[in-house]
Amino acid sequence: MKVNIIGAGVSGISAGCYLQMCGFKTVIFERSGRPGGLCTSWKKGDYTFESGFQWLLGSGPANPFYQLWSELLDMKSIQFVNHESRMDIELKHARSIKGDSVFHLYTNLGTLRSYMIENSPGDQVVIDQFIQRMRKIQSFEIPPQIKKVPALLPLSEKIKYIRYLPLLWFLNRIKKETNFTFASKLKSPFLREAFELLFDGDELPLMIISMPLAYNDMHASGYPLGGAAVFINKLKDKYLELGGSIQYHSPVLKVLTADGRATGLLLESGDKVSSEVVLSAADWYFTVFKALDGKYVNKTIRSLGRQGKLKVYYSIILVSLGIGRTFDDVSHFLRFPLDHELVSPDGTAYSRLESHIYNYDPTLAPEGKTMVSVCFYTRNADYWVNLREADPDKYDKSKNDFASEVIDLMEKKFGNIKQYTEEVDVATPATLSRYTNNWKGSAQGWLPGKNMIAQSPVEFTLPGIKNFYYTGHWSIPGGGLPVAIKSARDAVQIICRDSGQKFVPGNQV
Ligand SMILES: Cc1cc2nc3c(=O)[nH]c(=O)nc-3n(C[C@H](O)[C@H](O)[C@H](O)COP(=O)(O)OP(=O)(O)OC[C@H]3O[C@@H](n4cnc5c(N)ncnc54)[C@H](O)[C@@H]3O)c2cc1C
Repeated sequence: MKVNIIGAGVSGISAGCYLQMCGFKTVIFERSGRPGGLCTSWKKGDYTFESGFQWLLGSGPANPFYQLWSELLDMKSIQFVNHESRMDIELKHARSIKGDSVFHLYTNLGTLRSYMIENSPGDQVVIDQFIQRMRKIQSFEIPPQIKKVPALLPLSEKIKYIRYLPLLWFLNRIKKETNFTFASKLKSPFLREAFELLFDGDELPLMIISMPLAYNDMHASGYPLGGAAVFINKLKDKYLELGGSIQYHSPVLKVLTADGRATGLLLESGDKVSSEVVLSAADWYFTVFKALDGKYVNKTIRSLGRQGKLKVYYSIILVSLGIGRTFDDVSHFLRFPLDHELVSPDGTAYSRLESHIYNYDPTLAPEGKTMVSVCFYTRNADYWVNLREADPDKYDKSKNDFASEVIDLMEKKFGNIKQYTEEVDVATPATLSRYTNNWKGSAQGWLPGKNMIAQSPVEFTLPGIKNFYYTGHWSIPGGGLPVAIKSARDAVQIICRDSGQKFVPGNQV
């Protein structure tokens, strides 16, 4: 049975691998000239610039996602870097007990606890509660659940889920705690300011950080040395080995339908390619409202399209620099305050900068040199997309002017930046949109707000159309690479059920 897949991002290639393993014949149609979608890197001069890949949940066996990645990749062949500190936050006002302005979010929970208590013995009860919650996350047994699709389970299996009720109850309880509500319980001005700045001044569920931190502690949420290229090339090679094929520079225009069934794809080139099944692993908005003309929707989907309850994740401006010197003993990930607000061309004001110094990955720059990036979150993706279309010269100038301002601020902070800058690259929401087609330039699908534990808001199937399926990071709020593979695996299990095929995942660890 032939399956046409739209999109060679992590989700599309993962789904392609699972489908090939289950006996389907698949072709992926990718609009750009490379695999990976948002998970990508590119060369400029001697430097490799990264889309920002910082951590892979499931990089080590302590996290259940390791089992999924291992079905598709030889995880032992990838070298993961486990940082001592997840991030360092420089505060504007408060100081540590030693007079330090920087708060270190240590990845070792024992070290983090001692550090926080040393800074505020009076907060021990609250600190212990924070640490204990992460210990509890570590103690829950999740593996069997992660491999199953609840909707496909018979009642006799669903009943077994009762043993996960404590986990659900626990997650439901802690999802209400935000970095602000937690900070308000702390007496120490140093810790309070640090937690308020955990998401750069935004108020978000504390679980967004405590969940990955729990696995950082167990060396199961690391950075793959070599970055996105190493990871995505291994995934792509696996797919090709399994017999799949990828057609690059093949943007899909429409999903073809007949009698309520998907029958193939219409490419922008005008070519039609038929298949028994269509699986979209591309942007959800494009899929539902453009490729399928908004014909297969219900009230929930329509409201998502109007950005109802769920907010879209931020888009980003990424200023990447190739710097001809080393950065020894400098924090690899530092958020620091600015003396004056920096206003980006799209009107977003920033009072802090997020610098990412890849001094731990020598593969990204020649010896003695370093790749550095500065990331800005924005909700005004449309500005960049419209500007690029309307006035390409002004768009280029805006990018260059903004990069110059960022270089000046980095110079002020670290020194010896300007004269050593060899390469500059600016990716805007228009870049994300152009290369990956993600709605509103979103970096990770939906923002995990109160709906953090919500089940797939974008379902695997759509009402009124058969033989059509959907997967991708829009499937669960928060997105990211774990959602990309999990949704792909789940979608393939559903395709297998509907086509009477046995689901046969790959190498078991
Ligand atoms: C700066 C940054 C840093 C990040 N850091 C991390 C991190 O550290 N850890 C983590 O887990 N996640 C991270 N993420 C998120 C993660 O990269 C994404 O959630 C994930 O890669 C999404 O994969 P996907 O396959 O679902 O979607 P995408 O990557 O968006 O792939 C969709 C693919 O479909 C293709 N496509 C779209 N439309 C069409 C069409 N009409 N025809 C043909 N092809 C089409 C696109 O070109 C693309 O290749 C980060 C994201 C960004 C932007």
